[in-house]
Amino acid sequence: MSDITPNQVPDARDLDEFRRNGYQLIDWIADYLGGLEDRPVVESVAPGDVRAKLPPHAPAAPEPFAAMLGDLDKIVVPGLAHWQHPNWFAYFPAMSSPPAILGELAAAGMGVQGMLWSTSPAVTEIESHVLDWLVDLTGVPQSWKTTGPGGGVLQMSASDSTHTALVVAREQCRRRTGAPAEQMVVYTSNQAHSSVEKGANVAGYGHVRLLDVDNNFAVPASALETAIAQDIAKGLTPAFVCAAVGTTGTTAIDPVREFGEIAAIHGIWLHVDAAYAGAAMICEEFRAYQDGLELAHSYTFNAHKWLATNFDCSIFWVADRRPLIDTLSIVPPYLRNKASDTGEVIDYRDWHVPLGRRFRALKLWWVIRSFGVDGLKAMIRGHVAEAQALQAWVDSHPRLEIFAPTPFALVSFHHVDGDDATAALADSLNAKGVYVTPSVAGGKNYVRVSIGSTWTEPAHVERLRDLIDQSAN
Ligand SMILES: *Cc1c(COP(=O)(O)O)cnc(C)c1O
Repeated sequence: MSDITPNQVPDARDLDEFRRNGYQLIDWIADYLGGLEDRPVVESVAPGDVRAKLPPHAPAAPEPFAAMLGDLDKIVVPGLAHWQHPNWFAYFPAMSSPPAILGELAAAGMGVQGMLWSTSPAVTEIESHVLDWLVDLTGVPQSWKTTGPGGGVLQMSASDSTHTALVVAREQCRRRTGAPAEQMVVYTSNQAHSSVEKGANVAGYGHVRLLDVDNNFAVPASALETAIAQDIAKGLTPAFVCAAVGTTGTTAIDPVREFGEIAAIHGIWLHVDAAYAGAAMICEEFRAYQDGLELAHSYTFNAHKWLATNFDCSIFWVADRRPLIDTLSIVPPYLRNKASDTGEVIDYRDWHVPLGRRFRALKLWWVIRSFGVDGLKAMIRGHVAEAQALQAWVDSHPRLEIFAPTPFALVSFHHVDGDDATAALADSLNAKGVYVTPSVAGGKNYVRVSIGSTWTEPAHVERLRDLIDQSAN
């Protein structure tokens, strides 16, 4: 039995209190972000440390907001890897920014569901419009706009975008060839993100070919051609090719145009995974790397990596939206409505697996407006310039060697003394207040330095360079 009777329920809905707490929370976030440099990039935590600070049972009595705010400092922050830290050079960036944070808060404040156009028209129309803006901003084919045959939709992650593409392609292939999924083949690089293989398994494809790469970690078109020919000879059905524009390991770039031409001969679906590098395409000088996109059926890039918008915000474009909607649309009676029946509106629930969807476009819209296109371009160009300068310095260092090219803002290098020295170099850097990622490609160790945190300044990169110099001795 509760000690509180129904008419004594504390009013967690008090808007005056919400105002006061909300102002305090914004202050807390600003203090957190402003104070990151005084903390380690990754807090040292042993398994179970965080849970040990939590009470064994949920509180029976209401707690004040101050208690929760206090626990952010006592329990949460000491249990984090600080992805927004200016000395974060690990993985890829997971950028956030003040306008994105506020957009996220505003979306939560409205608490709407955008599954159908009619369940909140602004959610759908702003999303379509902002993604059409991005078609212009990134130089992808004009026909991908929602005003044309294609269209864009925001998904939770690039993995979801790729899984969705795999499901639609499987259905297209089945209708075209009559082949069962177990007989269908997916082709991608042995450097491709794990989401391609995982998505193929989830979608029920029988075979995944992880193709060998060249010295720059890109798949030569001839390797794709040979693999397809071998599978056709075995009686299998090639169904899906995924080209990477910027692999996760080293930002390698597969030949999209040649892949597209080969795929077209066999009626294969071409998907392009530019999860990280897609953001760079707002700067015209990088667009040669995505040459051939007009041959692609689908494409994904993450605004939540390198476009100043916090997770989750993954863009998925299709060249033709009909197969997508044909494959995913199932309309139960309780979701029927006049607007949908006329076919005049987009119902985004037919564009991905989940039904419910949040207002993700708001933060992206606010980021683009707050930075301005020129501001976003300057940000990307700044990161790339710092990465190129670091790469040139590594290249001239007697004990370091470039491991892979730096087309964007990822620098990959190793120690001339080999794998053990390279692993020791990464460990030594991570013990000195910066955070880099040790990795392996082609059987060799290397160090990944990814530049792109919102709060990383040139001085942080200079300090990193000095630490690399000391550690490489
Ligand atoms: C990061 C990354 C992904 C996965 O992105 P999520 O949004 O975390 O699913 C997929 N592909 C590439 C090339 C990536 O770099």
